[in-house]
Amino acid sequence: MRVAEMTRKWASCSTRGRVTFALDLLAQPEEVRREVIVHELLHLKVPNHGPLFKALLAAHLSGES
Ligand SMILES: [Zn+2]
Repeated sequence: MRVAEMTRKWASCSTRGRVTFALDLLAQPEEVRREVIVHELLHLKVPNHGPLFKALLAAHLSGES
């Protein structure tokens, strides 16, 4: 995992499982950071945005807190 300056999006992940978060993301509200981080970490398990991905994302974002 690494953090870098990114201009177009908050984060990305490669097919090799490397997740990169934008430096600017650290300045965002907690909900935004949480959503982006959960989103990218889920991509390590599910590489697409299919129904499984959406179900897992919803479960993670609503389950805790
Ligand atoms: Zn995604």
